[in-house]
Amino acid sequence: MPADVTQAPSALHAETEGIRERLRAVRERIDTACRSAGRDPGEVRLLPVSKTVSETRLRAAWVAGCRWLGENKVQEAQRKWQALGDLPDLRWSIIGHLQTNKARDVARFADEFQALDSIRLAEALERRLQMEGRGLDVFVQVNTSGEASKFGLEPDAVPGFLRELKAFPALRLKGLMTLALFSSDADAVRDCFRCLHRLRERTPGLDDARELSMGMSGDFELAIAEGATVVRVGTAIFGARPTRDSDYWPGEPSAGATG
Ligand SMILES: *Cc1c(COP(=O)(O)O)cnc(C)c1O
Repeated sequence: MPADVTQAPSALHAETEGIRERLRAVRERIDTACRSAGRDPGEVRLLPVSKTVSETRLRAAWVAGCRWLGENKVQEAQRKWQALGDLPDLRWSIIGHLQTNKARDVARFADEFQALDSIRLAEALERRLQMEGRGLDVFVQVNTSGEASKFGLEPDAVPGFLRELKAFPALRLKGLMTLALFSSDADAVRDCFRCLHRLRERTPGLDDARELSMGMSGDFELAIAEGATVVRVGTAIFGARPTRDSDYWPGEPSAGATG
C-alpha cells in the first residue's frame, strides 16, 4: 500500500500524541470511577470505538497503544480490517446490530461480537464460523431501556435465549451488553445499567460469562459504578463524529455529532 501522501509524518505524530493523551485521560477517569466504587481497575476493559474514524487516524491509535477497536457497521469494519492488516495484535469487536446476511463477513475477521440478539443470527454465525474454522466471543445484547427503537432482547427473554445458545459451540458466550437510555436523567440511565447487572446475577448459565459491556463516553463512570467490565468509548478518545449518530442507531433522534 502506498504511503499516505496527504499526511506528513509530523502530522501523524501529532495525531498519535493527541490520541495517547485522550486515552490516558479516559483511563484515569476509569481508574477514578473504579476507586470510588471499590473496584479493581484491572476488571474494566476499555474498548475504543472507532466508527467514522479514518484508517490513517487508526494507525496513529495503534501506535498510541490501541489493540482493540469497536465498530458499529460490518462493512466499515471489514474495510478497516483489510487496510490495517499489517498492524500486529489488532482485534476487532463488532458492537452494532447485524443482519443475518452479514454473518459471513463477521465470521471471517471479527474477534468479538457484542450485539447478538436472535437465534437466526446465532445459527448463521455458527455455520460460517464452522466453515472458517474459527470461534467468536459473543455478548448477548439486552434492551434495558424499554425503548422500541433499541435493538436487543427483552430482559425476560434472556434466560431462554441462553439455553438455546448452548447449541452453538463456535459462539463463546462472554456476557451481556446494553445501550442505556440516551438521557440527561442520571437515575434513568443508572436503572438501565442496574437492570443488566441484576439480570446477570439472577440468570442461570452465566457463571462463566460474567462480562457486562455497558457505558460510553457520556456515562461510563455511572456504568462502572454499576458493575461494567467493558466500556465502549468513542468520542472521548477520537473526538466528535462527523456523522449523525442516527446513521448508526436507527430510530435515534439526531442530536448532531455529539457523544
Ligand atoms: C458509537 C458507539 C459507542 C461509543 O459512543 P461514544 O458516545 O462516542 O463514546 C458505544 N457503543 C455503541 C454500540 C456505539 O455504536
